[in-house]
Amino acid sequence: MTIRQDNSHWRSRDLDVVWHPCTQMQDHETLPMIPIERGRGVWLHDFDGNKYIDAVSSWWVNLFGHANPSINAAISKQMDTLEHVMLAGFSHQAVIELSERLVDITPPGLDRVFYGDNGSSAIEIALKMSFHYHANCGHPERTRFINLSNSYHGETLGALAVGDVALYKETYGPLMMEPITVDAPDAYGLPREQWAEAAQNGLAKMRKALEAHAQHTCAVIIEPLVQCAGSMRMYDPSYLTGLRQLCDEFGVHLIADEIAVGFGRTGTLFACEQGNITPDFMCLSKGLTGGYLPLSAVLTSNTVYQAFYDRYETLKGFLHSHSYTGNALACRAALATLDLFEQSDVLGNNQSLAETLGQAIAPLADHPQVGDVRQTGMIAAVEMVQDKRTHTPYPWQQRRGMTVFQHALTRGVLLRPLGNVIYFMPPYVITEQQIQHVAKVAAEGIELATRD
Ligand SMILES: *Cc1c(COP(=O)(O)O)cnc(C)c1O
Repeated sequence: MTIRQDNSHWRSRDLDVVWHPCTQMQDHETLPMIPIERGRGVWLHDFDGNKYIDAVSSWWVNLFGHANPSINAAISKQMDTLEHVMLAGFSHQAVIELSERLVDITPPGLDRVFYGDNGSSAIEIALKMSFHYHANCGHPERTRFINLSNSYHGETLGALAVGDVALYKETYGPLMMEPITVDAPDAYGLPREQWAEAAQNGLAKMRKALEAHAQHTCAVIIEPLVQCAGSMRMYDPSYLTGLRQLCDEFGVHLIADEIAVGFGRTGTLFACEQGNITPDFMCLSKGLTGGYLPLSAVLTSNTVYQAFYDRYETLKGFLHSHSYTGNALACRAALATLDLFEQSDVLGNNQSLAETLGQAIAPLADHPQVGDVRQTGMIAAVEMVQDKRTHTPYPWQQRRGMTVFQHALTRGVLLRPLGNVIYFMPPYVITEQQIQHVAKVAAEGIELATRD
């Protein structure tokens, strides 16, 4: 008979050997991490018998719940057939089918799929492809990238360089290439009817940057509609439309990082749809496998593809790879995830879930320490501020979001904040009742966190 060990048992073994991501490990002296024994649907269960609603989809990856029966079955079946084969010189059914499906469901003109095994590597691939495309076309002088303020594209050096969140980036500054950073069309604190105006202002700034730098620029890289790691800041879809026009006018690529916002998070299957645009590169990961396995994809056009297609000796080929590129189990999980989108009206159902979420958190807008309540589809955020009138933030050192986090855990909800921002990005299998509970717990936590 095996004795079932409790949280503290696993915690102490963990702290002896594991170095956790995005964590000051000393925090765990006062803030115990939660060892999870199992997950089912929206629920995560720890070893002490507590359970938590995963309101942040385990860092935005989970779409259809933990231990989803149909994704489980698809992976099992694939496992019995082929777990993995190198994708250079070889291929397999799952990667071919997935590529066909992705070409089919993404905006028209994205006809080629290149694979990586995490979001950051998808960004590296898109950056290198864009640069290499221009070089192959006789423009090696195009070496710069334009990004938006407050953007986030991952943690590897190239991806980190084109991000703009100081907390993650500043320390490594000396190691990185320098992008040209343009103010994001951020609609923070604005009523919805003024978002379009913020977008127009943002486009005017982008035009200026392109006028000055287009000739040595490879691409503009953005997160369509929501800058997720950048505190869930949001902007109007008209920015996407205008940016596509500007990129065409100045002959630079547009890279859409849909790693977080893809697969229905913003209300449409892909956020780019809301601006009615096709980017030159679209990066996908996170929800791609329903939150099961690491996989990323970069979609691009046949025009880009053709610029690399030549005799080997020209060295125009894209000689980039990752060991697990196109992993069969991950591709099968992705196919099973896409099946779930087809089998029921997921986006339609999300619309009513999003409405419930919006209504449930709307009263927080009147809270004296809340500066903004914002929402785009299934992503919503509440920003706590020291001064509501001026939007002065609480000093980050006070870590008020952590109070909300800890309170929520005692009430059976996993809400991992971004600084002073409490956000909601639940799996699509959450119920309206569960949404109400999550919103109530968040409101309690915000009350506690802003008391003094
Ligand atoms: C998470 C994320 C990435 C990086 O993906 P990883 O798999 O964590 O490397 C890149 N861009 C955006 C918008 C993300 O949210």
